[in-house]
Amino acid sequence: MYRFIFGIVMMIIIFTTPKIIFGQEKFDEEEIYQKRMELYKKAEAASLIPWYYFAAIDQYERNVRQVRRDLPKPTGVLGIYIKPEIWAGPLNKNPHDTNPFTISQFGGFGMDGNGDGVADPTDDEDVIFAMARFLQSYGIDHKHIKMALWDYYQRSKTVDLILGKVKIYKKYQTLKLDDHVFPLPLHANYSYRDTWGDKRGWGGRRIHEGTDIFASYGVPVRSTCYGIVELKGWNNYGGWRVGIRDINNTYHYFAHLNGFSPNLREGQIVEPGTIIGSVGSSGYGPPGTAGKFPPHLHYGMYKDNGYTEWSFDPYPHLKAWERAEKQKKK
Ligand SMILES: [Zn+2]
Repeated sequence: MYRFIFGIVMMIIIFTTPKIIFGQEKFDEEEIYQKRMELYKKAEAASLIPWYYFAAIDQYERNVRQVRRDLPKPTGVLGIYIKPEIWAGPLNKNPHDTNPFTISQFGGFGMDGNGDGVADPTDDEDVIFAMARFLQSYGIDHKHIKMALWDYYQRSKTVDLILGKVKIYKKYQTLKLDDHVFPLPLHANYSYRDTWGDKRGWGGRRIHEGTDIFASYGVPVRSTCYGIVELKGWNNYGGWRVGIRDINNTYHYFAHLNGFSPNLREGQIVEPGTIIGSVGSSGYGPPGTAGKFPPHLHYGMYKDNGYTEWSFDPYPHLKAWERAEKQKKK
């Protein structure tokens, strides 16, 4: 039934909205956000699935694609990549089939979304409508979309990352969530230098996966980004720590805290500047251990690529956020 309605609604959308030609044109950032939102809203109108589900899937895939060499670079404004054999259908002898009829005969994912007679996996409208149809075939409520995502990605972390973004986009109702701040208030006394990758003696053969920002006990620690609290608790190395996942699949890690903000909880949405706790010296022992080193914030950044997660140097980012915030204040 859904499928039937989907077809009708889609035809109405296709023939009543002006054609967007993406091609090789260069758009500025503002235009790109606008074009993306138009596509998500069209998918919403056709499927009755809220736009932020499409935004979250697209944003997740865009970020995976940016850090993976085995995936081709996007040609349009969307980041969603559908493998040729999935698009054409697993039993289709031609993995680059663009004929909507034969693709549907072989149970392919692909469809003709913009009414040009071709099901093109590099065409943004074809891709977003194909995704909309796929999700809708499970049902349009959160629970069924989650099942669809699980079947599609077969990785619970990916599903969690996408649903985290859904929550963030739903709350802020915008795609522009790239603002950052420095983790400590700039008026506080603090110092830091680039020590990422330094050898660490404690806990075996490890390298230092972050930047240490030295400051006094109790200096507020702030979220550096828009994101969702993925983790809050104790770890023998990190002490009291918080992990925040932003919309770029980046995980921001705050360790050795003195304590947490009273209302902070896992699953909470935070924004640049939200106070999450304060500087301390917790860690390097069982829960409650503190004072084994001078108080500092250990700040780490990690990236997910769809398979695994790795640490990268936060120092250049800290410098850039600090500089941008100083300039703003002037
Ligand atoms: Zn550290």
